[in-house]
Amino acid sequence: MDIFSYSRISTYFNCPKQYKFRYVDKIPSPVPEGIELFLGSRFHEAMEYLYQEIPREVLSLEKLKKYFQMLWEEKWNECVKKQKEKNFQSPIRIVRKNETMQDFFQKGQLFLENYYKKYYPFNQDYTEGLELKVLFDLDPEGQYKMQGYIDRLARDNQGILWIHDYKTNSRKLSKDDVNFDDQLALYQVGVNQSAKYQSFSGVKLMWHFVAFSNNESLVSECTQEKLVQLKRKYISKIQKIKADQVYPTQVSRLCEWCEYLTLCPEGQKKIHEYSNISPPLSEMEKNAPSDHSLLKKSLDFQKDVSSYNTSEQLPLF
Ligand code: SF4
Repeated sequence: MDIFSYSRISTYFNCPKQYKFRYVDKIPSPVPEGIELFLGSRFHEAMEYLYQEIPREVLSLEKLKKYFQMLWEEKWNECVKKQKEKNFQSPIRIVRKNETMQDFFQKGQLFLENYYKKYYPFNQDYTEGLELKVLFDLDPEGQYKMQGYIDRLARDNQGILWIHDYKTNSRKLSKDDVNFDDQLALYQVGVNQSAKYQSFSGVKLMWHFVAFSNNESLVSECTQEKLVQLKRKYISKIQKIKADQVYPTQVSRLCEWCEYLTLCPEGQKKIHEYSNISPPLSEMEKNAPSDHSLLKKSLDFQKDVSSYNTSEQLPLF
């Protein structure tokens, strides 16, 4: 039985063709990992380490930043290795013009600082789980299943569970946006179905926008009625996905970040319409440097792989 996730379903509704490449045909990405995902993953790993250590010690900010740097170097080396194995022209993909690996490394360090200064000594609640997998049913018969990973599940002194989520991109949601956002509400469906959490007196959802200097966070709550509607909504989405035989392309500026752009003539055509001064991705790949084996070199990795310019925001991850 297929198990869906929020990101898998979102992929389909952003572009069915991209969904087909990734989930139906299971085509490995023909280009390197994007820098936004690379940064987001390192930040999440550092936060996991911070909270994992708390029962023993509260890490200093310096120690946390060093850990982030160690992760960055280690994963960078893996990207270099993968580049050689897969014959990629560059270890990592940077889409936005004028942005460098160093910019993203510094952003990551700043995100940690922002978060650390706001929540030190991290005694607002007690961690119940980190990168916690939730697997849940949308219907009583269990025909429609979903799963997800909660960045951090915590409980407070009042017996309320908190679902924490870190957003590392530069898109900040408004209070209204989070009230209508489905991702964390779906995780709540998962938490509600777990016997371990039945006795808690409520669930709150918390978004941390770590890319902003005051580390803005927003909180929302879902009624049972909303959760029932949400389950119906996602059953209907899954039914639509399963019924699709065509998987049409849905071109937009997000095509610039699509790892399958090189396999998609419609997407490439759209990109050229947006920016006829930018070379196609194949040119971008050809011109990218290929020998970057050390972090220092990665920090010098300049604009060679940043040939596209866009103002549209990336989806949240
Ligand atoms: S390049 Fe654009 S249209 Fe083509 S698969 Fe990717 S997102 Fe869809």
